[in-house]
Amino acid sequence: MLTEFAPAAFTPPDRAPRRTFVPGEKPPAAMIQMFNVTKVYAGGQPALRDVTLKVDKGEFALIAGPSGAGKSTLIRLILCEERVTNGQILVDRLNLRRLPARRIPALRRKVGVVFQDFKLLATRTVFANVALRLEIEGARPSFIAKKVRYILKRVGLEGREQAFPPHLSGGEQQRVAIARAIVGDPLILLADEPTGNLDIDLTRDIVRLLREINQAGTTVLMATHNQEILQETDRRVIRLNRGRVEE
Ligand code: ADP
Repeated sequence: MLTEFAPAAFTPPDRAPRRTFVPGEKPPAAMIQMFNVTKVYAGGQPALRDVTLKVDKGEFALIAGPSGAGKSTLIRLILCEERVTNGQILVDRLNLRRLPARRIPALRRKVGVVFQDFKLLATRTVFANVALRLEIEGARPSFIAKKVRYILKRVGLEGREQAFPPHLSGGEQQRVAIARAIVGDPLILLADEPTGNLDIDLTRDIVRLLREINQAGTTVLMATHNQEILQETDRRVIRLNRGRVEE
């Protein structure tokens, strides 16, 4: 277990008695809830089978499992990029089963996402990649300039505003992707194998950054099959195997 990820003053929730409730005490509020979720793609085996889980507000949880276990499917369902075949998903009390397509943008404002392959726009600067979302939302240029600079500083990319993604290292590119994901102040940050293209030192840096973001209040759900990270973490690990949860 690596304690270097956690500042001394921070008590990891897994070690705190947060799942032992005093009678009458309210359980922690849920940010994401899945009830008996099954997902079957056209013509395939179920990618998720009867998955029931809860991620609390403010939690940092990992989803582990080998390739094909259903991790990306779970993330795509939370983003409403795919719809469940059976079951229910609630994200910050929004029932995704009943969510009409016109309300999907409202869901996606609550949820930032980063991927293994960064998905940055190669012909736009770092600043422009991060600013894009705020521009689409119609924010004022003066606000955008201030907010993007603040977020880039938070992710450790101060002074890199005018660089283009292909000129950055993998770790820096993932930081840009994280900046882009959090610039709209989402409630939840989903990370789908965010360190899959990085060596172990950069992987630890990115996990540390995700934890800082979590400590500032964002609920973080990170899918990974990186064994070092899974062994070192003191956070809850939700294990998926062939579409089933083995918590
Ligand atoms: P993981 O992220 O853990 O590697 P995935 O969620 O990508 O797992 O995949 C789970 C299963 O669903 C795999 O068997 C995969 O082949 C299948 N699958 C994923 N996406 C699709 C799709 N768009 N169409 C059909 N099958 C898919």
